Amino acid sequence: MKRFVVASGMVLTLAACGGAQTQRLNIDPTAVAEEQYKQMAFAVEYQLKSQQRLERISYKILKANAEICGPRVIYRGGFNFSALSNFDKNIQPVLVDVMKLDANDRLTVFNIIKGSAADQAGLKNGDVITKIDGQLVGTGKRGRAAFDEYLEKVMTNGSGQPISLTVLRDGQAMDISFSGDLVCRSTISMAESDAVNAYTNGENVFVTRGMMRFVDNDDELAIVLGHEFGHNLMSHVEKTKNNAMGGYVIGGIVDALLGTGSVFANEGAKGAAQAYSVEFEQEADYVGMYMMARAGYDYDNAAYFWRKMGVNNTQSITFSGSHPTSAERFLGLEKIADEIEAKQQNGQVLVPNLKSK
Ligand SMILES: [Zn+2]
Repeated sequence: MKRFVVASGMVLTLAACGGAQTQRLNIDPTAVAEEQYKQMAFAVEYQLKSQQRLERISYKILKANAEICGPRVIYRGGFNFSALSNFDKNIQPVLVDVMKLDANDRLTVFNIIKGSAADQAGLKNGDVITKIDGQLVGTGKRGRAAFDEYLEKVMTNGSGQPISLTVLRDGQAMDISFSGDLVCRSTISMAESDAVNAYTNGENVFVTRGMMRFVDNDDELAIVLGHEFGHNLMSHVEKTKNNAMGGYVIGGIVDALLGTGSVFANEGAKGAAQAYSVEFEQEADYVGMYMMARAGYDYDNAAYFWRKMGVNNTQSITFSGSHPTSAERFLGLEKIADEIEAKQQNGQVLVPNLKSK
C-alpha cells in the first residue's frame, strides 16, 4: 500500500510540470524512414495474409457446393491480378517488394488460391501477364480494366472453355492454359471495421477485420462464411426486398450478431422485412452448415462458436431481435450437426432437407 502512495505521488510531480522531464531520445530521421517502410511492409503482408485466408476458405466452400447452388454458379480461375498504378503512390515501392508487382506497371498475378484451376495449371504469384488468348494485355489501370472485362466475358460468365495466358517469369515467357472452376456465385471481401460482423448484399459477402481476429481457426471462419453463402444460395436478400412492400430499398442482410443487428434503410420496411428475418437466419445456419461440411470443414464443433459469441456479446444470449439468440443458435447448430453426421454414417449425399409439401 505504501508503495502505491509513493508511486502516485511521483505521477503527480511529473504531471505538475509542462513537457517531458526525462532526457530526449535522439532518433535518427533516416532510421525513422526505414522503420516506416518496414511497418508499411508488415501492414501489407498482414493484409495479404488475411485476404488469402479469407479467399482460400471461401473458394473451397463455393467450389464444393457448385452442385447444390443450381443456376447461381460461375467459373473462376482462382487468382488475383493488378498493376502498380492501381494503388496509392506512397505504397507502390512496398508493393513491388512484398506483392512482387511489376515496377513497369504491367499486370502481375498475386494471391493465387491453393488448389484452384490457376494453381493447378502452374500459374505463380509474381507472374507478369503479357497476353490473353494471343492478344496483348495493356499496362496500368486501363490494361487491368480491359483484362478484367475479357476474363469476365470468357471465363466467369462463359461456358467453361479454357483461357490461355502468356506470362513472364524471371524474364522467361511461358504459356499457361486452364479452364475455370465451377463455383457458387458469391464474392468475398474484407471490411475495415473492428466490429465482429459479417454482411451480404445477396452476392457480395463482407467479413470484418474484427471477425477475422475473433475466429480461432479456419473451421470457425468457415461457419461464418457458410452462413453468409447460405443467405445468398437461398436468395434471402431478394426475398427480403420482395417482402418489404412499397419499393423500399434494403441494402442487404447484416449479421451484426448483436440480436438488434439489421441495418435497414427505412423504418417502414423494417417491420415487413424483419417478420422473416429469424426464419432466414435459421435457414442460413442450416444451409451454411451443410455447405461447410461438404467442403470438408469440421462442423462438429461449429455450435461452440455461438457460446463464444455469447461471451463476446452477453446481450445476444437472451435478446431476440431480428436474429435468433446465441443460445438458440448453439442448440440449432447441434441439431444440424447430428443430422449431417447421421447422413455421413449412412453414406447419404449431404444435401439440405427441404420442407415436405
Ligand atoms: Zn445471417
